[in-house]
Amino acid sequence: MTNWKAYRPLLLPPIRGLDRIEVYEQHGGYEALRRVLAEWTPARVIEEVKASGLRGRGGAGFSTGLKWSFMPPPDGRPRYLCVNGDESEPGTFKDRQILEFNPHLLIEGALIAAYAIQATAIYLYIRGEYADWIDRVEVALLQARERGYIGERVLGTDWSIAFYVHRGAGAYICGEESALMESIEGKRAYPRQKPPFPAQRGLWGRPTTINNVETLANVPLIIRHGAEWYNQIGAPKHPGPILYGISGHVNRPGVYELPSGMPIETLIYEVAGGIRGGKRLKAVIPGGSSTPPLRADQIAGVTMDAESLRAAGSMMGTAGMVVLDEDTDMVRVLVRIAEFYHHESCGQCTPCREGTGWLVKILRRIERGEGKPADLELLLEICNQMEGRTVCALADAAAWPVRHTIQRFREEFEARCRGSLFSVPEPIPSTSQ
Ligand code: SF4
Repeated sequence: MTNWKAYRPLLLPPIRGLDRIEVYEQHGGYEALRRVLAEWTPARVIEEVKASGLRGRGGAGFSTGLKWSFMPPPDGRPRYLCVNGDESEPGTFKDRQILEFNPHLLIEGALIAAYAIQATAIYLYIRGEYADWIDRVEVALLQARERGYIGERVLGTDWSIAFYVHRGAGAYICGEESALMESIEGKRAYPRQKPPFPAQRGLWGRPTTINNVETLANVPLIIRHGAEWYNQIGAPKHPGPILYGISGHVNRPGVYELPSGMPIETLIYEVAGGIRGGKRLKAVIPGGSSTPPLRADQIAGVTMDAESLRAAGSMMGTAGMVVLDEDTDMVRVLVRIAEFYHHESCGQCTPCREGTGWLVKILRRIERGEGKPADLELLLEICNQMEGRTVCALADAAAWPVRHTIQRFREEFEARCRGSLFSVPEPIPSTSQ
């Protein structure tokens, strides 16, 4: 986008009090739900969302409409929509903005999705640490119930829906869709073997669709303005507004809503105000800690959409971008990331349970200056033994940063193995008084 300053936010518009239902309604809120219940069949909703090109914002980037179409025809028994609000990957902090500032957009999107797949109940799973935002969503749900948007015979139609909030207890693995369902069922959050996929056998064995918070917040916009309008926003194959969470060594970290396909350089140097202290860029982790880092010399012309990032050797993930300046110790960064995945492994599969621990042990040894050159090959071999060999993708998420950080910053790791310590700079003095 050439003039990103002209963009008007759609998911987080600058309207005060949007979390109050009367304000949300004054700005067109719940009109999309009213329209689909009055005029649209569930199949038409699915087709419209498919045509919009909306892709999941939780990390995998799968077509939302296509996912909904996997649900089998209703058989009169329960079926579910789960809303994944368990965001807890390092570098990712964007769903909470919707939960805090525009919860009714999420609720309306979830209701439209539930109608499209003919769900009988919605479970919104929110990480427990988001205590304040859970309270806000509970209040918003009460307001929506009072207005007749949730409950028996919604808005006088034949369609009924229940809506529950489930608090997580702080485990990252609960954001994996099958672990999330186990957790809602009151069990330990062990991911399930797939197939069967959730649409075939989900929550309590019934057909279930799971969508991310930001994904569902896009749905009322698509119904309100049409698929054609929506797929003109941003990158053609990955359209729509995106909440970019920019953190790390930038002058203005934060969550910025802009079209998909923004150039990484624009996000860093214009939107987020450039590198802190006028330093040079060393690396960018584009979409949360599991996505492969890109070196500064790899980002020219790369845009934030699945296709461009894949071509550059990384992934879109959650668009939670971590910016690292020239003084960053990449060995330290990787140790910290590896420790996170080791801590969060559920322990069910040997390659993940043991492999994440081995990665941490070897990386810590290298960080202390006690590594051997053969350790780098050993780390890559452990990654080979982890990737694609486990029940869920956490093992891949742990292995990818190790593989790609070593490949892209190999000299730094080799130097550390030879005992050359990376010089840690003096802290930058604060300019605020
Ligand atoms: Fe658990 Fe790791 Fe296996 Fe996933 S890959 S099921 S987190 S042990």
